[in-house]
Amino acid sequence: MTFKRRNGGRNKHGRGHVKFIRCSNCGKCCPKDKAIKRFLVRNIVEQAAVRDVQEACVYDNYTLPKLYAKMQYCVSCAIHSHVVRVRSRTNRRNRQPPPRYIRRRDDLPKPGQPGQPGQAPRVGGGPPARA
Ligand SMILES: [Zn+2]
Repeated sequence: MTFKRRNGGRNKHGRGHVKFIRCSNCGKCCPKDKAIKRFLVRNIVEQAAVRDVQEACVYDNYTLPKLYAKMQYCVSCAIHSHVVRVRSRTNRRNRQPPPRYIRRRDDLPKPGQPGQPGQAPRVGGGPPARA
């Protein structure tokens, strides 16, 4: 076995040693510089409870801190869960970090959307206030 292998049979190219991390979704090992890292910002308690705590708190303008969970995805999970999107094949040599995937908010009002059948268009905006 004197076959000269490209890169000496090692699969790291010019990055030295990189520690691996486990993917937050599937547990697969992935080089740390290759993993797609995102912070998941979450309230410690639910939104209704946040307001209750704010009202009950002695200090004014105290807001509960948020949880910042660091998520590290492997490439396949990041693509599958739409954290990043694939590049077109024409600029596959482009090594720039991918742009953030802008998640479409479903709760935003969509202008020009036809109303559901069998539902009268709301004039006042919002449900009628109860007495
Ligand atoms: Zn994964």
